Amino acid sequence: MDVATATAEQVGETVKDELAEKCQKLFQAFLEEYQTGDGEVKYVREAEELIRPERNTLAVSFTDLEGFNQELATTIQEEYYRVYPFLCRAVRNFARDHGNVPLNKEFYVALEELPTRHKIRELSSMRIGTLVRISGQVVRTHPVHPELVSGTFLCMDCQALVKDVPQQFKYSPPTICRNPVCNNRSRFHLDTHKSKFIDFQKVRIQETQAELPRGSIPRSLEVVLRAEAVEMAQAGDRCDFTGTLIVVPDVSQLSTPDSDNLKVLGTNRVFCSTRHDFFAAVPPPGVTDYAIARRIVDLHCRGEESVDRLYSLDEIRRYLLFARQFKPTISVESKEFIVEQYKRLRQRDSSGGVTKSAWRITVRQLESMIRLSEGMARMHCCDEVQPKHVKEAFRLLNKSIIRVDTPDINLEQDDDLEEDEEQQQEDGGAVPSGVNGHADGVNGHAESGTRGPAVDGVNGHAESGGQAKPALRLSFPEYRRISNLLVLHLRRAEEAEEEDELKKSAVVNWYLKEIESEIDSEEELVNKKGLIEKVLHRLVHYVSPPAADVSPPPSRYTAVT
Ligand SMILES: [Zn+2]
Repeated sequence: MDVATATAEQVGETVKDELAEKCQKLFQAFLEEYQTGDGEVKYVREAEELIRPERNTLAVSFTDLEGFNQELATTIQEEYYRVYPFLCRAVRNFARDHGNVPLNKEFYVALEELPTRHKIRELSSMRIGTLVRISGQVVRTHPVHPELVSGTFLCMDCQALVKDVPQQFKYSPPTICRNPVCNNRSRFHLDTHKSKFIDFQKVRIQETQAELPRGSIPRSLEVVLRAEAVEMAQAGDRCDFTGTLIVVPDVSQLSTPDSDNLKVLGTNRVFCSTRHDFFAAVPPPGVTDYAIARRIVDLHCRGEESVDRLYSLDEIRRYLLFARQFKPTISVESKEFIVEQYKRLRQRDSSGGVTKSAWRITVRQLESMIRLSEGMARMHCCDEVQPKHVKEAFRLLNKSIIRVDTPDINLEQDDDLEEDEEQQQEDGGAVPSGVNGHADGVNGHAESGTRGPAVDGVNGHAESGGQAKPALRLSFPEYRRISNLLVLHLRRAEEAEEEDELKKSAVVNWYLKEIESEIDSEEELVNKKGLIEKVLHRLVHYVSPPAADVSPPPSRYTAVT
């Protein structure tokens, strides 16, 4: 029996949102009908692009929308969170009407050109759920993960398939098998072939100096990027994000014991630029790696029959032979575009101390970009390299670049950020009670008053007040070395059940003894003590420590494909 079909129907019956459904209809009409000044049906052409396997997000200009139907535009702006899934459904229907797309392919919408831009500090709880555009500088990017959007699970007891279990906030297998004669509540296997995933990435943005009121500490915000929005931003970039502000549920109740890092996300307000929830429902480690690996292996092993082939190998060979005859020239417009894109890569590469990229953009990459652009033109049998070819070349090149970013750890900034988050928690009206992650925050403010804010986060020892500031910046490898040392020590102490050794003061003393030979003066000792306390503070309160895994790859790297 197909248990899942019945369930899916039941789900369909439960809620009916008439306003959202009306929006969906009108939005689809807009996509079909909207014409530019010269009579082109703008989005129909875009829909044809969406058919490509790597594409899934339709960019829609809010200005176009306003021109088409002001009331619709206003409703979308005010009820964005509510109508978003319906807009995506409209895009999906639209794409299906204009091309041959796989039935299970999901589509998303990204609204652009929203006329008003807000600063991070202007995001009040009033704006939760509405469509807003904010600007900021990217200070941190996290790796891209596949996020499970809806899971199909196999009951290990009766082999029934439980289809399309929506995933929100965390990995959620069915609570009970849907086969009425089966009582299985825990043994389910995720069928990755039949489940839906989306690319998911978190970045942190911060107010730029220019936006900052005099004497204020920059505020920051966690931004969630999904689908095609991932990997668009790099640390150092100044970006605009269009999406909605959402409130994060109580992290402590969601997290499993091993997910310390979820605490880091204890920022209560998150800007979310696609889809409607914040936490990635990331399956347990191994599940997605396995899913990805299996897809690749499948493709290679089953080869022929696993792929629906439109053309035979021979046809492709002949096509390539023909395409190679073209010797495209680069148009003036494209030349300028190439230079522009190259500059963009370069700027990212050397973005003013924000990142230290192990990878350098060189003239060789410029050559690659030109060759790829020419290749794209040939593939399309064009005599001229057009900007769209350059655009694709840039996208390919940018995706293939592995950036190993190892920024310095700014311990001072941690405190700033933390204060900032505290501040946000204070002024965020819609904070769900019990958001944690900053159980005991920063104290010692009083003592640090004379030396600028937040220098003295941990416990504000009065005696260190007159001393030179301890070094507040650590290179990433050094930070990691110290963290690993601490983690190994703590693990050993924990295993040996030496509880006294786990106290902060004991850990600090142990570390100072370890590096005794490197210390020459009392001043240096005070500095080192301040430093280790800050590292500990950071590990405990702010960052997901390498503690979760002593040998992670060097910090964050943005790579993939
Ligand atoms: Zn079952």
